[in-house]
Amino acid sequence: MLIMLVGLPSVGKSTFSKNLSKKLIERNIDNIILGTDLIRESFPVWKENYEDYIKKMNKSLISEALDEGFTVIVDDTNYYNSKRRDLIHMANLKDKNCISIYLKAPLEVLLARNIARGAKIPNSVIEDMYLKFDEMGTKYKWDKPDLEIDTHLEAINFDEIIDKIFKLDDEKSSIKSTFKSKDIENSDNNDNYNFKNKLDVETRHIIGEFIKNNKNLSKEKIKRLSNYRKNYIKNLRDIEKDGIIIKNEKEFNEYILTLLEEFKSE
Ligand code: ADP
Ligand code: MG
Repeated sequence: MLIMLVGLPSVGKSTFSKNLSKKLIERNIDNIILGTDLIRESFPVWKENYEDYIKKMNKSLISEALDEGFTVIVDDTNYYNSKRRDLIHMANLKDKNCISIYLKAPLEVLLARNIARGAKIPNSVIEDMYLKFDEMGTKYKWDKPDLEIDTHLEAINFDEIIDKIFKLDDEKSSIKSTFKSKDIENSDNNDNYNFKNKLDVETRHIIGEFIKNNKNLSKEKIKRLSNYRKNYIKNLRDIEKDGIIIKNEKEFNEYILTLLEEFKSE
């Protein structure tokens, strides 16, 4: 699975990641912590024009780690919902679950922690981010965090968190399998839909040919024939709701032939 952390600088993401990682391996979950800082720190200096590469590299490392079967802890601010959506999307494409954990703390705490560790980022930047941060899930339902942890108030209970993560992972997997069977149902409906379209085209064609070959049919008869056809398709539409349309494939041929015979003999 992919464990996506979300939180402002100094909230405690890297500390949390390391503790979570150790606890996960105690439970035999092979895992790796990844994030843009890891790549940033591999450069001797920081330059704005490195950022595109850093982000690209981060994505590809996460992707490959998931392919390898590792649980990935993404230690990044993941400040924008577009980044969160990308990570969820990546996990889902690989048929993995994404568990989002939102770490939060009051602004004063963030600023104090930032100063205490040397203020590599100016406090004003954190302040700005804090004020502009959209609460997760207010704009998009999918963006609601799976877990919210206040790194200020509570002593973090990692065993409890891991139990919750496992439970969420199971729940998400079972929702996914329900969706999958829904997809199968939908594809059946699609087949029905295609089948009905085929009938529509075919009956139109059969009746068109019939009219062409029987030039002495009265207008009234042609109209009746055309209504028969329409009603037949319409009735199929109703039957289709119960999902028994395929049963009517043979019935259709018999029906339309009988119908045409009747018209001919009238
Ligand atoms: P982030 O990765 O989110 O920027 P860090 O994990 O590096 O945050 O933590 C920032 C500072 O806050 C560090 O000095 C760390 O020791 C401290 N810190 C982290 N988590 C906690 C916590 N739960 N309680 C108190 N201090 C913490
Ligand atoms: Mg960090």
